[in-house]
Amino acid sequence: MCPPLNFWSRMIQEVMFMSKKILFVILDGVGDRVLNGRTPLEVAVKPNMDFIAKNGVQGIVDVISPGVIPGSDTAHLSLMGYDPYKSYTGRGPLEAMGAGIEVKPGDIGFRVNFATVDENWIIKDRRAGRIKDARPLAEVLDGMEIDGVKIILRATVEHRGALVLRGEGLSDKITDADPHEVGKPVLEVKPTDDSEEAKRTADIVNKFIKKSYEMLKDHPLNKEREKQGLLPANIVLPRGPGKVPHLQSFEDKWGIKGIFIAGVALLKGLGRFAGLPAPDLEGATGGYDTNPMVKIDRALKFLYEEDGDIAFINFKATDVAGHDMNFEKKVEMIEKADKMFEKVLDKDDLVIAITGDHSTPVTKGDHSGDPVPLVLYAPNVRTDNTLYFSEREAAMGGLGRIKGFDIMPILMDLSDKAHKFGA
Ligand code: ZN
Ligand code: ZN
Repeated sequence: MCPPLNFWSRMIQEVMFMSKKILFVILDGVGDRVLNGRTPLEVAVKPNMDFIAKNGVQGIVDVISPGVIPGSDTAHLSLMGYDPYKSYTGRGPLEAMGAGIEVKPGDIGFRVNFATVDENWIIKDRRAGRIKDARPLAEVLDGMEIDGVKIILRATVEHRGALVLRGEGLSDKITDADPHEVGKPVLEVKPTDDSEEAKRTADIVNKFIKKSYEMLKDHPLNKEREKQGLLPANIVLPRGPGKVPHLQSFEDKWGIKGIFIAGVALLKGLGRFAGLPAPDLEGATGGYDTNPMVKIDRALKFLYEEDGDIAFINFKATDVAGHDMNFEKKVEMIEKADKMFEKVLDKDDLVIAITGDHSTPVTKGDHSGDPVPLVLYAPNVRTDNTLYFSEREAAMGGLGRIKGFDIMPILMDLSDKAHKFGA
């Protein structure tokens, strides 16, 4: 027998006026291939994600396009609904943003290494003896001008850092200085097209590298390191140049208020690139020791106390395990990430997406073009018959096979924030 009509009406009333929030969790590199018949997702014990899968709908995602191997940066652009082919201009600008530099359209951004060279500029160590903190060295060079172009330099983690060139007539069409190999000489930076801008930029970067050697080789910090038998960080090597593009802000693009929560600089940079706040959180390290609870707490605070609409969370440790070719660690990190979802199971106004930005198979030790699983939960969502969150189950899910930039429109629709196309 059907319940009385007012039963249904009352149920409808309940959901109709619900303002829905979106939680979008990206388990970095979570997808894998089978080893001995199973993937890490299939081996991991993850009751919360499985609960969401059972009550939600799954599908598999080609984050860029079938068979295309995504970088974390291009993948996240796609997941945020941007066309990665139009919006991506290289890793340098993102790294600079992640390092806290306020980049502007037209700036040229680079990743840099503090390295050790001998007096003939032959690389002795690309990581300068794994220097712990290169900030005092970066400060010496930061803010100087070369040929009217401003140099902005920040040290980030260990030997890594970011460089920005700001000025007129610059180009990113230049080569790298880093030979990527010990025993090789530092490479002269050259233009890769015929433009005056590329020639001038190459010239400025070469001058900057020379300056870095002159100013760092006798720096007190390096003298002290040498005394302790450590390698000096006596040169700065830029690579991965990219021009900062004009990217429509996420808020303008989707008309909703977001936050981007990540541990690693590159991804924080990406969030800020899209105009989203990307807070530095204590304990969110991007490594095996990361504390995902810090992230979920920040996300829920944003959504429920700061009137936010969408919170992105990147969990990096699954990718790290894939690169380390460590099956057990990947399982362990999936189980660690699962704890986050304990905090959301009681939320009846939350739209949840869990996916990866790409696969990082432990048998490959690097990213692959294999699609990633996606699970969506939303109030009243049309569920499918899948029971567990995994590559295999997701491939049988109700969403079928979609692309990375399809996810945002689906989330907008499920949270009733989308607008009708047509009359
Ligand atoms: Zn990634
Ligand atoms: Zn990776």
